[in-house]
Amino acid sequence: LPSPRSPRAAPLSRPVPALPTARGAEAAALLRHLCLKLRASGPVSVAEYMREALTNPAQVGRAGQGRGLGDFITSPEISQVFGELIGIWYISEWMAMGKPNAFQLVELGPGRGTLTEDILRVFNQLGSVLSKCDVSVHLVEVSPKLSEIQAQMLTGGKVQQNPEDEPAYMKGISKTGIPIFWYRDIQDVPPGYSFYLAHEFFDALPIHKFQRTEKGWREVLVDIDPEVPDQLRFVLSPSSTPATENFILPEERRDHVEVCPEAGVIVQRLACRIEKDGGAALVADYGHDGTKTDTFRGFRNHKLHDVLSAPGTADLTADVDFSYLRKMIQERTTTLGPIKQREFLKNMGIDLRLQVLLQNSPDTATREQLLNSYDMLMNPEKMGDCFNFFALLPHHRLVHPDKKDKPESKSPLAPVAGFNELLLK
Ligand code: SAH
Repeated sequence: LPSPRSPRAAPLSRPVPALPTARGAEAAALLRHLCLKLRASGPVSVAEYMREALTNPAQVGRAGQGRGLGDFITSPEISQVFGELIGIWYISEWMAMGKPNAFQLVELGPGRGTLTEDILRVFNQLGSVLSKCDVSVHLVEVSPKLSEIQAQMLTGGKVQQNPEDEPAYMKGISKTGIPIFWYRDIQDVPPGYSFYLAHEFFDALPIHKFQRTEKGWREVLVDIDPEVPDQLRFVLSPSSTPATENFILPEERRDHVEVCPEAGVIVQRLACRIEKDGGAALVADYGHDGTKTDTFRGFRNHKLHDVLSAPGTADLTADVDFSYLRKMIQERTTTLGPIKQREFLKNMGIDLRLQVLLQNSPDTATREQLLNSYDMLMNPEKMGDCFNFFALLPHHRLVHPDKKDKPESKSPLAPVAGFNELLLK
């Protein structure tokens, strides 16, 4: 099991550790490339550094593998119960919205595909409830390597590559008979009533970092350390940059802020789609509601890793600022949360589910594993508190459009599961 992720404790920069592996050679190549670039054109934003470190073609082994393959394990990989309860959340929302006759499940960054697999198992088990509903799955994944792993997990590898002019680059049929499509961008997913899912997706997108100074906001940039060869360090921009002008909200109170404009754009797209075609989105991530400052950190083999050393060898991440996402949604939809993972899962009935699984497990080893994984997800010191759930829902899901005129003539709206206790009829 992974160690819980906590804010970076490492000093700002450390000598690059020697890596005697192929990964070491790739890392050295990327560092050389970065140093050349910094020497030639000066410091870069943290966002640009993250993009280089996570996707530079110099790192053949790492590019296309991304996270979830060694640097840390995500909740669905810790316990099947996590994905099952999320599957139940979608069914409960589908019922509350009057059981529309079709929906798309759209997942952003599905990793190994474990979460989708657990959700589809629930859809299959509740087949009698969903029998008249036309369900399809749409995965948004940029990594060719991970899309292959997802295809293997979900279809047993029976997929077909699509011609370039099709919006989906690949398609297949799940083991339970549901059509699955793969895209590189959310904008390629066809419009329609959809349930969206983004689990540990937004925290991997590039951030800009800013520091308040006596002269106003300055952007934190990445540069070469002039004292130590091939070592990187953080510096402050001498004057304001286009990012300081555009990304800091006037009402900002913090002295140090991280902004992820790409997350803002994507959440806006989700909100527009839900406003127009209906559905809901569930976002689950490490995050805060506009209170934290310096959360940028690296993980390598489940351990904290200095973000500036050996770029390309560690997974880089920053907490999601849910208050920023809410502002970007601009009331196109209602939002719920963020609420802590342990509260969300408790409301979804994790305790009952655990009891059932324990009763059905004959051997002590399995029971112990179930209890350990429950503790990992729920313990406030582990993932229970720092992980949050946040939802986007159409306004009419929570307030009758004509409520003001005739409040007594409408039946009460069902509470949203997870953010309230689950009431499945
Ligand atoms: N949701 C998974 C793990 C997410 S890891 C889980 O719960 O286990 C982040 C995922 O997002 C990876 O699959 C990565 O390849 C993908 N990804 C990163 N940036 C992306 C982008 N801009 N568009 C689509 N997918 C992206």
